[in-house]
Amino acid sequence: MSVKTKYVFVTGGVVSSLGKGIAAASIGLLLKQRGLKVTNLKFDPYLNVDPGTMSPFQHGEVFVTDDGSETDLDLGHYERFVDQSLSKDHNVTTGQIYNTVITRERRGDYPGATVQVIPHITEEIKSRIKKFEKSEAKPDVTIVEIGGTVGDIESLPFLESIRQMGQEEGPENVMFVHVTLIPFVRTAGEFKTKPTQHSVRTLQSIGIQPNMLLCRSAKPLSEPLRQKISLFCSVPTKAVISAEDASTIYAVPLAFHAQQADDIICRHFRLEVPEPDLTDWEHMVEKINNPQRTIKIGICGKYVNLKDAYKSIIEAFTHAGVYSNAQVDLVWVSSEDIKQSGADKFLHDLNGLLIPGGFGERGVEGKIEAIRYVREKNIPFLGICLGMQCAVIEFARNVCGLKEAHSYEFYRELKHPVIHLMADQEGVTELGGTMRLGAYPCVIDKNTTTFEAYQTVEIHERHRHRYELNNAYRKMLLESGLSLPGLSPDGRLVEIVEIRDHPWFVGVQFHPELKSRPTRPHPLFREFVRASVAHYEKAGGEATRTESSPDYSKTSQ
Ligand code: GLN
Repeated sequence: MSVKTKYVFVTGGVVSSLGKGIAAASIGLLLKQRGLKVTNLKFDPYLNVDPGTMSPFQHGEVFVTDDGSETDLDLGHYERFVDQSLSKDHNVTTGQIYNTVITRERRGDYPGATVQVIPHITEEIKSRIKKFEKSEAKPDVTIVEIGGTVGDIESLPFLESIRQMGQEEGPENVMFVHVTLIPFVRTAGEFKTKPTQHSVRTLQSIGIQPNMLLCRSAKPLSEPLRQKISLFCSVPTKAVISAEDASTIYAVPLAFHAQQADDIICRHFRLEVPEPDLTDWEHMVEKINNPQRTIKIGICGKYVNLKDAYKSIIEAFTHAGVYSNAQVDLVWVSSEDIKQSGADKFLHDLNGLLIPGGFGERGVEGKIEAIRYVREKNIPFLGICLGMQCAVIEFARNVCGLKEAHSYEFYRELKHPVIHLMADQEGVTELGGTMRLGAYPCVIDKNTTTFEAYQTVEIHERHRHRYELNNAYRKMLLESGLSLPGLSPDGRLVEIVEIRDHPWFVGVQFHPELKSRPTRPHPLFREFVRASVAHYEKAGGEATRTESSPDYSKTSQ
């Protein structure tokens, strides 16, 4: 489209967790729907090389891309909104930048020079931002989200780099968008603009003048308030966008478009492009907001109090719910509670159960018990990664009669390690470098629950795990009624298990949630939700919303 790539830099002010990722993803969607080629990048100011080693408590979900990189969960939002698969180059951390520069210094690439933040670190940051200009898929617009909050010490090199790019690329090619908070102070009965003024002043003191403000607030901002913000922050009133809490994150781009945010961006860049086509998106949001029924699906995991750890799963349920005209209320069940008080107490009124991925032994026995319950009670089940491994353990124990079946991940001396390392992984250092990461092909048998969902025999799904179903037990599992309908193309790895003699029971070694998109729900989630709706209807449509099932399909921004 355009000759030169344009850059939208998205920074955040006042507090963290304002939804910068959703804002950057929404801008991406709007520009893409205007016919522009866009890409979204995330720069994170921490020293970890990637978030793969961070606890989900610290960082939420690790989003795995096709090329096997472990990235920030905002990449999930970008993929879902812009409907594009990203790679390791789309998430850059301070750790990676320093790693590169220090490796170069040790190699003698800067002979005699003092290696400094400016220019060496900033040059490396800029080259990562501009990397895509040289690629075949050169974007018309690159949207770069800077992690952290303006004023943090650690994000300074990133802000300095984008300031320099403002000079070097020219103002018509660079736009600064600042996401900020307008708090409502109840005792004063007023919205307060002062924190935003301070945040913008901090940006200005670094040499960055924002061109647009996305103002997060509980309610829409009045015209006089936007004028006031405009006056103090030197941003035109029309570019002070009200970003109030939304019924669903998918309504955010529509709210931005209603205030002509995308128009302002295109005018700034002097891009003559048509209005965006948002028909499908509007239709999807309409369906999210007007479900015909509400079903209850349990998620039994270790981190029940940490919804960010299951971000993509929550979103995949929203997408699948749209398809079935259902709101999916997610009921978070602690596996430790099940172990203590039994499965019936927590699962009896559910229409489906999902066991997500995880690491470590805590809670595993409760998950195995939950699976026994739904297998016997004919409640639809989807097991993901550790969830599939638990399903295999449960089946081996309670159907094949191998009472001591377990995973080699948790116990080294096992009579029946039904989940094990592959033979060629043994002896490799057990923690580093043995994870199977990224997209792998899988071949599916016809006439299976899985094939009914995918309608194709070869799929590519993303993995993040170390252990596999132990091939020594394949025969016994098959003979006892556990189907193994999905194998790696060479037949060595079991990727999928299912029970045909059950309304819907599927376990997968990969993470289908990572590839679900709002207007294209993942086939397994789509069919799992469909089966759960059938269960709900068979039970007389009795699932009702309870206190324990907050409305996560309508996550606010
Ligand atoms: N802990 C298991 C493994 O490493 C499962 C990992 C996961 O669920 N992502 O194989």
